[in-house]
Order: sequence, then structure tokens, then C-alpha cells
Amino acid sequence: MAKKQGIVSIDHKRCKVCGICVNMCPVKNYTIKNHKLHELGQCIACLQCERYCPDMALVIDIKNDKDTSTG
Ligand code: SF4
Ligand code: SF4
Repeated sequence: MAKKQGIVSIDHKRCKVCGICVNMCPVKNYTIKNHKLHELGQCIACLQCERYCPDMALVIDIKNDKDTSTG
């Protein structure tokens, strides 16, 4: 089974550390430390945070482990 994986880019100049993405992420990929957002490399590329971040501070690159040859 190919699992979707996301590469998270946080734009710290945009991020206001509002915490929306921290609460929303289904795999708890975000944590706030020292008033800064960190990501933990668990992203499954559901794209919710990218969509709902009010400051558009998040960009998710979708990466598939395997080819889509079974489609
Ligand atoms: S939702 Fe956006 S602004 Fe809020 S903490 Fe997450 S990245 Fe930062
Ligand atoms: S795309 Fe989904 S899984 Fe990845 S960090 Fe955002 S909310 Fe979490």
C-alpha cells in the first residue's frame, strides 16, 4: 500500500501562530514551541491545514512512496 506523504513548508513570516493547524491536523503534525510553529514530519498530505490556514503560511508538497502503477 502506497501511503501518501506530505512535505510541509512553513512560512514563518506569514504564520501568526494562531494554532488552527495544530488543532486541525489529524496526525498531530504540528506543535508550538517558543511561540513558533514546528512540524514533526508526520504529514499524510490531507491538505486541510494548507486550505484553512488564514495566513496561507503552509504549503504541502505531496509525495508518493511508490509509482501509481497499480491504478
Ligand atoms: S494555521 Fe497558519 S497562521 Fe495559524 S499556526 Fe498554523 S500556519 Fe500559523
Ligand atoms: S496536510 Fe493534513 S496531515 Fe499534513 S500537516 Fe496538514 S493537516 Fe496535517
